[in-house]
Amino acid sequence: SPAQTTFKRVLLKISGEALMGDQGFGLHPPTVERIAAEVKTVHDMGVEICMVIGGGNIFRGLQGSAQGMERTTADYMGMLATVMNALGMQSALEGLGIHTRVISAIPMDQVCEPYIRRRAVRHLEKARVCIFAAGTGNPYFTTDTAATLRASEMSCEAIFKGTKVDGVYDKDPALHDDAVRYDMVSYDDVLQKRLGVMDASAIALARDNNLPIIVFSLDEPGGFKGILAGEGTYTRVEG
Ligand code: UDP
Repeated sequence: SPAQTTFKRVLLKISGEALMGDQGFGLHPPTVERIAAEVKTVHDMGVEICMVIGGGNIFRGLQGSAQGMERTTADYMGMLATVMNALGMQSALEGLGIHTRVISAIPMDQVCEPYIRRRAVRHLEKARVCIFAAGTGNPYFTTDTAATLRASEMSCEAIFKGTKVDGVYDKDPALHDDAVRYDMVSYDDVLQKRLGVMDASAIALARDNNLPIIVFSLDEPGGFKGILAGEGTYTRVEG
């Protein structure tokens, strides 16, 4: 029987780096297609899906400013990078027959839709995957905060943060054999212990809106669908 889920509307947040494969930069089309296929399995379950994709595979504002660039200009470059990633994901999803909209916080009408909340909600109701691009549209923010903001505005039941590991650990599992994964951890613990799930503003916004964050591995084939069906290992961040 097909896997079941109680979730009706979710937001998937992935970093830009998730799209670059082993290349170290940019978009790796087979990797983008693999993630699109993961999204399709969840779309096939009838779940309404929002996506936010970072831009770190192309440009990060902090890196640019460390190299002498004006910070806000560098941040706008980072936001534009997220639009490129969103378009790449849109193309891959459409290749699988899924209707999508790229919705940008910074209007660029020839490229994608501007963000209009009610319109985005309508797209979700019509089973279109909404890929929210250009972050929050403001410098000094991150796409983690954009994900939390959009998930709140769209009334998503949770943010699914796809990473390289299957949850949140007390220390970096890549460096420590004895690292322990939390099944559940509070927002305040994430902040106080600096567990690095998302940046502090994103965690605080999620906490203030009671929005659970589910951290899971996107490297695990079938992982996204499995987590939605209540299988596999993950960490739930909540009150
Ligand atoms: N950015 C921004 N405002 C936002 C979201 C993103 O200025 O609301 C810029 C910022 O410079 C950031 C870059 O876009 O470094 C890429 O986003 P992020 O670092 O969140 O990408 P990820 O690490 O998830 O790939």
